[in-house]
Amino acid sequence: MNFEGQAALITGAGRGIGKTIALKLAVSGADTILVDMSPEMDDVRKEIEGMNRKCLTFQVDVTDLEAIYAMVNNIIEELGEIHILVNNAGITQDNLFMRMKPEQWSKVIDVNLNGVFNVTKAVIRSMVKQRYGKIINISSVVGFSGNPGQVNYSSTKSALVGFTKSLAREVGTRGVTVNAVAPGFIDTAMTQALNESQQEAILQQIPLGRMGDAGDIANAVAFLASKEASYITGTVLHVNGGMY
Ligand code: NAD
Repeated sequence: MNFEGQAALITGAGRGIGKTIALKLAVSGADTILVDMSPEMDDVRKEIEGMNRKCLTFQVDVTDLEAIYAMVNNIIEELGEIHILVNNAGITQDNLFMRMKPEQWSKVIDVNLNGVFNVTKAVIRSMVKQRYGKIINISSVVGFSGNPGQVNYSSTKSALVGFTKSLAREVGTRGVTVNAVAPGFIDTAMTQALNESQQEAILQQIPLGRMGDAGDIANAVAFLASKEASYITGTVLHVNGGMY
């Protein structure tokens, strides 16, 4: 897979899965745009620049549509077009439904779903204009299986499947593919927040007997972003060690 001459924007690229996706695309030749709410993107940028690839960083909240539009205008001036968009930023605010506060529901919907709307909305025009684009949305196994304590989170992750499939139908003839990757349980800060007994229970459901690592997801994203996947659109690639 070779992404030379292409620019890839990755949200939530400061750590975890997003950071690993950015490094994977950069090592395969892409210039990268890292977007994260947290300012801690310098290490990733330095690593990418060490590969002689361009790297821009933006400390932006994906829920802020105006800031996202300003950022995308800035990127297009600086790098020209955006070829690959990975909507990866996401949060959890777990609680059993009976105890879930309206703010926990709204916040998770705002970041995980409205955030994807905002960034895609800002980027897609330039993809359609250049008649080339690869959009990859990061869903989750729990959007398919459900998970107690995650009514808010799993709702957003299954909504991304509808988003992916509908948008794929709208922009296919314009050379833009839209796919999703649904990770299982991946060893990042998000899952390290689970207690030991929750982690044990999860491991017992995984036929491959281990949690995934961020590289497992980055490999799947890189494939869907590549020319090798040019006849694949509107699909969900499950990367979960066989648990679903
Ligand atoms: P993480 O918490 O380690 O990293 C998420 C990154 O997104 C952070 O750097 C954070 O600052 C950034 N972010 C959060 N809200 C933001 C906002 N409003 N604007 C901009 N940036 C924001 O999480 P992760 O485990 O790397 O997960 C990445 C994606 O993968 C998420 O969408 C998550 O739902 C999904 N996912 C993760 C797992 C898992 O097991 N870790 C499983 C399935 C799906």
